[in-house]
Amino acid sequence: MLITLKEILSIAEERKIAVGAFNAANMESLEANVHAAEALKLPVIIQFAQCHEPWIALDLIGPVMIRMAEKASVPVCVHLDHGETLEYLKQALDIGFTGIMYDGSTLPYEENLANTKKAVELAKQYGASVEAELGSMGRRESGEGVGSGEEDETKIYTDPILAKEFVKDTGIDALACSFGTTHGIYLKAPRLDFNVVTNVRAETNGIPVVMHGGSGVSKEDFHKAVEAGVRKINYFTYMDKAGGAAAQEALRKMISDGSPVFFSTLSMAARAEMQKNVEEAMKTFARID
Ligand SMILES: [Zn+2]
Repeated sequence: MLITLKEILSIAEERKIAVGAFNAANMESLEANVHAAEALKLPVIIQFAQCHEPWIALDLIGPVMIRMAEKASVPVCVHLDHGETLEYLKQALDIGFTGIMYDGSTLPYEENLANTKKAVELAKQYGASVEAELGSMGRRESGEGVGSGEEDETKIYTDPILAKEFVKDTGIDALACSFGTTHGIYLKAPRLDFNVVTNVRAETNGIPVVMHGGSGVSKEDFHKAVEAGVRKINYFTYMDKAGGAAAQEALRKMISDGSPVFFSTLSMAARAEMQKNVEEAMKTFARID
């Protein structure tokens, strides 16, 4: 069942959980995500990031994402992750995406504010919801860029007072906050500042907070983040890594058996392992374990 970002976040708010938001830039991860949600009877956000365009075009995978959401037995939001231009946001909305993230976090505040307002106006015409970002997570969604092994100095934590003004002026439905997470693989254990989340929630009348860079965070920290008011957790790198490891093992087995190497065998092994990894993440975010 296809629902909007706002609707799915209100389910999360009601249950005091976070909904997992998983990238779906290929058929294997898309199916892994939706089947995991159905197996656990949990709502899910499937998303496509603009930087994944070289993997597959939005106008090809987008309609498939919508179709899978409509057919699913659980609530599914189809969301655009890290949209960087209004043209790209419009492309996703035209396909039928029910949530969009406008990422103006690298721009000066006034420019981020002005563009986010335009994104909200645009999404309204389609009945879709908007996530925006304040503060900076450091490395980009692809996990590339700065990552020295020490503290990532490009990270700027979200200012709760500025968040209050930003949420009020833009009318967004969810706010991505920077409080210590980074995209990609952590080079050392992250130290998260949950006060940022608590204070943003207090200043904004409880805006659903989005946590990016969820891969590699401990279960305890996920639980603390949810308690503080995180309602959407973006998670992808470690599921992608789990799929890669499964494909590697399947490849090793075919080679050692002296059998021909079939790509479909690799792809199915990856899909099955990604589903398991996503189920574990979903249980943690929903505080089932
Ligand atoms: Zn992100």
